Amino acid sequence: MVIGTGASGGIGIGRVMLVREQKPVYERRRIRDTKAELKKLREAVESFVKATEELADKVMEEAGEKEAGILRGHIILLKDPVMISEVEKLINGGECAEAAVEQICNMFISVFSAVDDELTRQRAADLEDLKSRLIKHLIGMDEVRLSPLPEGTVVCAKELTPSMTASLDRKNVAGIITEKGAENSHCAILARALDIPAVVAAKGITSIIKNGEDIILDGESGEIIHLPDEKTKKEYEQKKKAYYSRRELLRSYRGSPTLNADGDKLSVFCNVGSVGDADRVVDGDGEGIGLFRTEFLFLDRKTRPSEQEQFEAYRAAAIKMKGRPVVISTFDMGGGKEVPCLELDEKISFLGMRAIRFFNYHPEVLRTQLRAILRASAFGDVRILVPMISDIEELRFVREMLEQLKDGLRSEGIVFNENIWLGIMIETPSACMIADMLAKEADFFSIGTNDLTQYTMAADRDDPSVSYLCSVFKPSVLRSIKYAVACAKKQGIMVEICGEAAANRLMTPLLLSYGLDTFSVDPSSVLMLRKEISHYTKERADELARAVDEMTTSAEIKEFLTSQLYDKNA
Ligand code: PEP
Ligand code: MG
Repeated sequence: MVIGTGASGGIGIGRVMLVREQKPVYERRRIRDTKAELKKLREAVESFVKATEELADKVMEEAGEKEAGILRGHIILLKDPVMISEVEKLINGGECAEAAVEQICNMFISVFSAVDDELTRQRAADLEDLKSRLIKHLIGMDEVRLSPLPEGTVVCAKELTPSMTASLDRKNVAGIITEKGAENSHCAILARALDIPAVVAAKGITSIIKNGEDIILDGESGEIIHLPDEKTKKEYEQKKKAYYSRRELLRSYRGSPTLNADGDKLSVFCNVGSVGDADRVVDGDGEGIGLFRTEFLFLDRKTRPSEQEQFEAYRAAAIKMKGRPVVISTFDMGGGKEVPCLELDEKISFLGMRAIRFFNYHPEVLRTQLRAILRASAFGDVRILVPMISDIEELRFVREMLEQLKDGLRSEGIVFNENIWLGIMIETPSACMIADMLAKEADFFSIGTNDLTQYTMAADRDDPSVSYLCSVFKPSVLRSIKYAVACAKKQGIMVEICGEAAANRLMTPLLLSYGLDTFSVDPSSVLMLRKEISHYTKERADELARAVDEMTTSAEIKEFLTSQLYDKNA
């Protein structure tokens, strides 16, 4: 079995069709008749635009306006006055149109690829597609069209360009597998919009499989089963059926408010790690962003993001969420999340200079980030969340800095939300123990159960040898959560949960009973959780929580809660 990244849900069962994009080949020539060459370029641009508009119309019909916009974006890129005039300049200097297009596109591609931002890098991939297609139009070579295809085709390729994906004959494609790509590359976005199961980043797959061979892919787990036997095929046919009936049921929860069985309103927000993820929140029907892990903006880059860069990212997320809450957590570096651009001599351990502790030594990093968040707060309901708080002075340190920054922005005439919320992550035992004090000074709590569990149990969350201890169902962890929620409620502040436990169905009645307002989960879990919450009255949740209060082991608690689930097969 090969494992890639699940990029579009569903099970694909079918036969392999290997797709190899033919690169256009041309002979580089010096041009004397530049007028004729410029005319050739204009004609190629026209036929490119026509073909792209046709593809975009097809995508518009099958997927929607947003996805069609990916292809229309190629036309905008091509018609960019700088781009066209640079190509024309080279032609006027005697370069043939094909080479001129290649050189100018390559120049933009290298600029875009160097930027440490997923969206900009995506632009580079779009330009690669555009370059190759425009040259094909110049030399009169046919573009790759993935239609018509035989029924049950699983399209496998090193990489599928947006135009190739858009041309797919949807009804006959059982799935897509690519060696390159990531969860948010355009091929993946289109596959999701076209509702085709897809696995990307499946390393080496095209050298293992052959045309016509049987293959299965699971677009959620990223599993690929090459040459499955009959038993496995049957098993996956069942999984496929279950997947689609589950999805149908969940669809009825889309667009409706999150209500418990008494009709009380709750909220399901989402956890994200990039601006691009905000689209997943909208697609997943999330009611806001409950945790934007900004350290992910920092992870694979060598330079620190500037205030402006951060501001643009936070503003983009706020704009995408159209007034719905966007909880931006300050950088939580350390504990496995290494940040090369900070140029630290040593790794930051879980008990070391992680998150807020780092700012104690490098306040300028926090200052830059808070200013960027404050500026972005003019564009939506932006809130600040500080992870790893274990002492009230840490909160006061951030509050004081925030007030100073507000003074600075006011004097510069920069608009921001004067009443921006400053919340804290409750994820250390110490924060839990003083949750009553913290609730008086924080604007909201967000319970980070991943860390709260590891620190409460003193069991490294990444160490499998102590995973038996690292369970949110341990009575000590449940008591901590319950107490923190009670302190928030007493003080009348909002309390959300943003750790993985938020999406655990066994936890739902307990959290509802404790009085939690808001859940923050992966966008793919929103509808499932909304459905789960709808089952419980407060009375029923309290009844289960009371029974759990009497239990002494996590095994007993889990077994009991599993036996009480509403829909055991969901
Ligand atoms: C947590 O600790 O529960 C949390 C949400 O933060 P992270 O997983 O990023 O530490
Ligand atoms: Mg944490």
